[in-house]
Amino acid sequence: MLQQDHLFINGSMVAANGEQALPVTDSFTEEVFASYRSASHDDVHSAVAAARAAWPGWSATPLVERVAAVRRVAAALTEQAEALTTAISREVGMPRKLAARIQVGAPIAAWNNYADLAAELAWETRVGHSLVQLVPVGVVASITPWNYPLHQITGKVAPALLAGCTVVLKPSEIAPTSAALLADAIQQANLPPGVFNLVQGIGPDIGEMLISHPDIDMVSFTGSTRAGSHIAGVAASQIKRLSLELGGKSASLVLPGSDLPTAVKTTLAGCMLNSGQTCSATTRLLVQRNALPEAEQILQELIGSYRMGDPADTATRLGPLVSAQQRKKVQAMIDDAVAAGARPVGAKQPVPDRGFFIPPTVLADVTPSMTIAMEEVFGPVLCLMGYDDIEEGIALANGTEYGLAGTVWGPATPDTLAVARRIRAGQVDINGAPFNPAAPFGGFKKSGIGRENGHHGIREFLEPVAIQLPAA
Ligand code: NAD
Repeated sequence: MLQQDHLFINGSMVAANGEQALPVTDSFTEEVFASYRSASHDDVHSAVAAARAAWPGWSATPLVERVAAVRRVAAALTEQAEALTTAISREVGMPRKLAARIQVGAPIAAWNNYADLAAELAWETRVGHSLVQLVPVGVVASITPWNYPLHQITGKVAPALLAGCTVVLKPSEIAPTSAALLADAIQQANLPPGVFNLVQGIGPDIGEMLISHPDIDMVSFTGSTRAGSHIAGVAASQIKRLSLELGGKSASLVLPGSDLPTAVKTTLAGCMLNSGQTCSATTRLLVQRNALPEAEQILQELIGSYRMGDPADTATRLGPLVSAQQRKKVQAMIDDAVAAGARPVGAKQPVPDRGFFIPPTVLADVTPSMTIAMEEVFGPVLCLMGYDDIEEGIALANGTEYGLAGTVWGPATPDTLAVARRIRAGQVDINGAPFNPAAPFGGFKKSGIGRENGHHGIREFLEPVAIQLPAA
């Protein structure tokens, strides 16, 4: 079993001094395959002090050097790609082949992409007789979840470093390995001591201490709406800068005249990705009532192709959920929905005899009054819902407390774009257009505050400062 007792503080791997062991479970074998040691409160103080001490030098480092440093991190991560894929696939349960591309290849590319974008940013502009400069916020606490561990860490650490901030990262205790391997990569890339620091630990202890530390200027959090709401309160009481990437309940709104088979197939794939453990998963398929039987028929045919199994097996399409606890929560939500009148579509697949599996599930006859139609499930569960006219469809799409992402399907006309513009979500695709890492991503309502990705993602870590120039 991998025993990992190190943190990364002030440019060195140092022994963690916390009492608590943090076991990491393989979501397919159900065995503990690694154990990390928690930081102590003194370790958190040391990490924040190192980040604070490094800040003046790093913020004054020329952008070209910060860009070069980030590119060196990307190169060092590339050397760790195999190890990252193995660890994430075991921690999270995503099929290995898919994890190599989505959980590892895409985030490594994003490190380079952020470096390109930083070089393009308008760091200094003139407004009348004022010079408006973008300056780094300061010392950032980054708190990340387990579902796309390297991706979420990347979306915070790379832009913060490029902005000239220094960082203390506390990753999820459920999937801590990406952060440990990133610390290796940062050491290899020779970043100045204290610019990046890593502490491991559980949220209510080490995370809580980090976000409330007086020497932290900004909290950048991705995770559940419940934890985000608490963290927002802590940050507000200390007037800390804050960005929150929280839960979602994204709709796929299929307008009349759409290519229904493609819309249904793509929506199901978007829902099942990472066994539904994706914040932007398209978990609600909204079709006109007269098209419901055809949509249901297509789903019935497709659902059997989501073969469950060992994530290491290339034939596996649907991996297990992250934990027994997550499986229990998802199963309870399905049972509750069925008791409220939702109807499972298609034959139930046999579940492998080990691993935290929930079979791919499609529920028809879902109504807005059901919890499953309103709350994030974070499991492989698609809700099929009907609407009568387009206004009702838009109202349904916008009718939850979330607003993270969404898809609109329709003919290639201005009307389809007009509907997309009315979706209250931070990212809306038309006809399944692919994810664009250069475009902003983030939420309305309880899906969060602020944006990641693209120029906006770097801007989160910058404050504008106006210097009024005297008349010449
Ligand atoms: P979580 O809220 O349980 O934990 C997220 C992180 O916060 C972990 O590192 C945890 O240790 C830490 N934490 C928990 N309580 C804390 C506290 N009091 N103080 C400081 N840190 C604390 O979320 P999770 O289960 O790891 O992740 C799943 C959730 O994340 C889902 O709701 C999902 O939608 C959301 N998510 C959102 C996005 C997005 O971009 N909007 C992306 C991925 C995941």
